[in-house]
Amino acid sequence: MNFLSEITGSFAQPCAENPTVAMVEAAYRHHGLDWRYVNCEIAPQDLGDAVRGARAMRWAGFNCSLPHKVAVIEFLDGLGASAAIIGAVNCVVRRNGKMIGENTDGKGFVQSLCAYVDPAGKSVVLFGAGGAARAIGVETALAGAKRISVVNRSPQRGKVLTQLLSEKTPAAAQFVSWDGDFRIPADTDIVVNATSISLFPDIEARLPLNLDTLTPRMVVADVIPNPPRTRLIRDAEARGCTVIDGLGMLVNQGVIGIKYWTGIDADPRVMRARLEEILQDAAR
Ligand code: NDP
Repeated sequence: MNFLSEITGSFAQPCAENPTVAMVEAAYRHHGLDWRYVNCEIAPQDLGDAVRGARAMRWAGFNCSLPHKVAVIEFLDGLGASAAIIGAVNCVVRRNGKMIGENTDGKGFVQSLCAYVDPAGKSVVLFGAGGAARAIGVETALAGAKRISVVNRSPQRGKVLTQLLSEKTPAAAQFVSWDGDFRIPADTDIVVNATSISLFPDIEARLPLNLDTLTPRMVVADVIPNPPRTRLIRDAEARGCTVIDGLGMLVNQGVIGIKYWTGIDADPRVMRARLEEILQDAAR
């Protein structure tokens, strides 16, 4: 008999609307794991205590979401290679008693991308330069993308990400100013929205983009998980592009986190189905 469950979880603020707990626990149940995922509301001033608590309780690891992705680093024992380049951690893993910070956002994105196109040698247009764009830019570059054009509203943030990609990855990166409706160069293979445009509740917001420059040869990915069928996804689909919604990234970063913590290859279909069920209930 063993009544001691393994514990994982999430530290964020706010966290009540984050469905990750339901997605991860669906995978734990499906694979018969006696594991728990505890969604914790943690204020910035309590983050150090929370990490010390997780250590003391021998948690196998935890996710970190806003606003802790950078601040958590000072409480950890080390960083994985891409988390060190990105400068942010969304997944902490206990390895040999040490708390190691990883970034699974970009890895999850690349995993969902690879189901449709291998980024190696490809030209990418990346909208956004915040946390999600940093993770996606770095991992897509490390996966071999040839060229990444960073398109961002604030030039300052866009240039910082462009410089990071140029200095720390093999990809050729350039910053492109976002003035008016952006025209996607015809030789682009992959288009990524990594801004927060059209996240619930602002669901009809549209990316300033000339839709006539979207062509069927392009793969168009959106990071927005709620709603998954954003305006960009619908517009790109109507123009014959291959589309990838934000649930793919969310599910795959969860699959990678569960692999880090438990060693199990979780079934992404079970996790996606649980998320879709939740989003449908919420939309009713
Ligand atoms: P940040 O706040 O760090 O960055 C937001 C980005 O969006 C910035 O580049 C910002 O530009 C841009 N932006 C916001 N509003 C506008 C606008 N009206 N016009 C032009 N640009 C705009 O957020 P994150 O990077 O952390 O998150 C971005 C999105 O990614 C969120 O919606 C989040 O839900 C999603 N996400 C999805 C994940 C998944 O697994 N599917 C994982 C992580 C994030 P500027 O610099 O000019 O302000």
